[in-house]
Amino acid sequence: MDLPVDEWKSYILQKWSLLPKSIQVTISTAETLHDLFLHSSPLLQPEDEMFLKRLSGGYLVGKDPDASLFYREKGNQKFQAKDYMGAAVLYSKGVSHSGPSSTDISLCYANRSAALFHLGQYEICLKDIVRAQTHGYPERLQPKLLLRKAECLVTLGRPQEASQTVTDLESSFAAKPTLSASQFQILQRTLCRVKVKVQEKENLPEIFPEALTKTFEGVDLREENEQIPGASSSVSLHIDPLKGRYLVATKDILPGELLVKEDAFVSVLNPGEVPLRPRGLESKWDIQVTNGDLHCHRCLRHTLAPVPCDGCSYAKYCSQECMQQAWDRYHSVECSLGALLLTLGVFCHVALRSTLLARFEDVGKVTKKLCGEMSNQGICLPESKNPVQTLKYDLGGEGDKKDKAVETPIPGCDINGKYERNYNAIFHLLPHTENHSPEHKFLCALSVSALCRQLEAAGLQAFTTDLKPTKLKAAEPPVLCAELSVWGVAMLRHMLQLQCNAQAITTIQQTGSKESLITDTRRVRLATALFPVVSLLNHSCSPNTSVSFIGTIATIRASQLIRSGQEILHCYGPHESRMGVAERRQKLRSQYFFDCDCPPCEREKQRPSAGPGRGAFRCHRCRALLQGDDVLSCSGPACMESVSRDLLVSRLQDLQRQVGAAQKHLRNGRLEVAIQLLLGCQSDAESFLSAEHSVVGEIEDALAQAYAALGDWEKSATHLQKSLQVVEVHHGPSSVEMGHELFKLAQVFFNGCAVPEALKTIQKAEKVLLVHYGPWNDEIRELQKMKSCLLDLLPIPVGPKE
Ligand SMILES: [Zn+2]
Ligand SMILES: [Zn+2]
Ligand SMILES: [Zn+2]
Ligand SMILES: [Zn+2]
Repeated sequence: MDLPVDEWKSYILQKWSLLPKSIQVTISTAETLHDLFLHSSPLLQPEDEMFLKRLSGGYLVGKDPDASLFYREKGNQKFQAKDYMGAAVLYSKGVSHSGPSSTDISLCYANRSAALFHLGQYEICLKDIVRAQTHGYPERLQPKLLLRKAECLVTLGRPQEASQTVTDLESSFAAKPTLSASQFQILQRTLCRVKVKVQEKENLPEIFPEALTKTFEGVDLREENEQIPGASSSVSLHIDPLKGRYLVATKDILPGELLVKEDAFVSVLNPGEVPLRPRGLESKWDIQVTNGDLHCHRCLRHTLAPVPCDGCSYAKYCSQECMQQAWDRYHSVECSLGALLLTLGVFCHVALRSTLLARFEDVGKVTKKLCGEMSNQGICLPESKNPVQTLKYDLGGEGDKKDKAVETPIPGCDINGKYERNYNAIFHLLPHTENHSPEHKFLCALSVSALCRQLEAAGLQAFTTDLKPTKLKAAEPPVLCAELSVWGVAMLRHMLQLQCNAQAITTIQQTGSKESLITDTRRVRLATALFPVVSLLNHSCSPNTSVSFIGTIATIRASQLIRSGQEILHCYGPHESRMGVAERRQKLRSQYFFDCDCPPCEREKQRPSAGPGRGAFRCHRCRALLQGDDVLSCSGPACMESVSRDLLVSRLQDLQRQVGAAQKHLRNGRLEVAIQLLLGCQSDAESFLSAEHSVVGEIEDALAQAYAALGDWEKSATHLQKSLQVVEVHHGPSSVEMGHELFKLAQVFFNGCAVPEALKTIQKAEKVLLVHYGPWNDEIRELQKMKSCLLDLLPIPVGPKE
């Protein structure tokens, strides 16, 4: 997803392998990104571009009225089946495939408003009604729409507007009796019902909407850092020849303290699995729902009622405002490139968007300014007005500057030493050019070249005003013109930077069947982004912070007490609770190019078996733990049992398959089948796995869900408590995983009316989740609602008399 599609990857790799040795050497040994780009770019031949074009052709990103009709009909089927959520999403797909101001789009909006009405989403239902009307909703269907509008307004406690709508409706009836007698009767009846509701509401005092709770944007750092905007004053920026830049605590920091709150400089929504359309097969529009259908492509907010870009079916937004902003800042250039960008992958897309956000002029300016800074530092540079020339000197060779760090200002900071969250900071993130394989660099260079050619073909002049045809001629064909190659080199730099600096924006998605009363959640990747301040944090397999996201904003909180002088660390992915030391170190080396020497890594390197107890097997005779490598023998005092690891591993795999099957039954609501299977798994697991094995935890968790769905709260709680023990062993008592599991347990106790247990668990869950998410998290609010509900049930203690 991040990198180009496999077909393009293998095509370029083959192209590389067929290159003459001399050219391979020139490219492999290119000292700067500029050289790398200029040597690679001319190798992109017209037939390569044709191949890429054919690949991109598999993505349906344009408007297609037939697709619009197809999705509307599919949506109607879901609507009939009362699956209003499913219907809304399909109508949204219909909306994005219809041209603006067409009957198609107005019908899709109107149908979606009906689905939203049934989902109780009255505010957005009203918005869709207005959208249907402004896109030319057919006159003869208006009454239905107006009735829905009136009902929404009544429900929302806006009786004046509702009665105005009713008046409009009546006068439109009188003016144009276009309806059949029976239709008219149905409408009249509904109208009466709404009128009664309107009157009831009118007699009530005006209901004021509940005072809006403080929004997340209101959550702020206690005191902002003077040097690093977006960071707290409890940290400071340091630089070290070995570690690069990093953050250190300047005072003791308590768990839960907000350390960084930063909006992404750039983010690109991950498309999810967008299937390539099988060639030659028409009307195979997929009805699969991906992140791209449910989240705003600009602000990433979840939305059931997106509005599409007028020019493509791919980009969708939560509001007109987001659409406009995206258009002004980047989408006007990206719109015609949708299919190409999907083919070239998210990193390429982020690279392009970064440069668009910086504006073309700034790419030149930043790089020129950097040259200036470097010559001030005594690095001799020839004076040059030509950005292509100057780029050569600052795009490569980060490595050789490292040892001069003492007197050098910190990269990414301005002359006053202030680290700004701007393109300058982004530009300074390390691309690690020397660490990437030549093939990978070649793939990135050619992908960026292809993108540049498309940008050129798409009439880039509109965007970069000074790019005149005369200038294009002046450039050496087939080499790109000067400005475009500056752009290309910058994008290449970003593509290489992203491997180490890309931050995945994740969101908690609810899984499980619709009926289940306890929430099961899963962390999913929503977007790929660059955060200049978050990028300053180094990795630890056992970090002292926790990162979470709301929209495109990242927050980093201390997850434990951090003493003054300690480094602020976060985890790049390989966490000690999720994998063993060998796997972690291998992952960090291949993706981030460093050998981790964090305390857990050092500890586990000494005693490889000291890792988390995930792999622990036990003896089927005496239940003692098995020890050893290829052949494990029992650690029990009088037991001679021994067994091969292969055998145990294959038993484990069988068990995992069974658990997977049971979870599927569970999701599909076949509870009894799921429980039978899970109980079988449970006894199987007991015979050869330790009680803390993660699979044991999974089984208990699934059983808890199944019993909860059956309303057997007591059994559910028992299993959940066992699962909780496993989570605690693996992730620690104050981990975010523990928080989510405690949240589930609180729901179970709450639903089972076990008041004291519920209150105790709510308190625990709240405490853990607060540290990781701060007070404006959905789960925490839910917990608080449960708490106040339970406290209302308790007898009110009699206070002292006045
Ligand atoms: Zn938005
Ligand atoms: Zn578009
Ligand atoms: Zn480590
Ligand atoms: Zn034994």
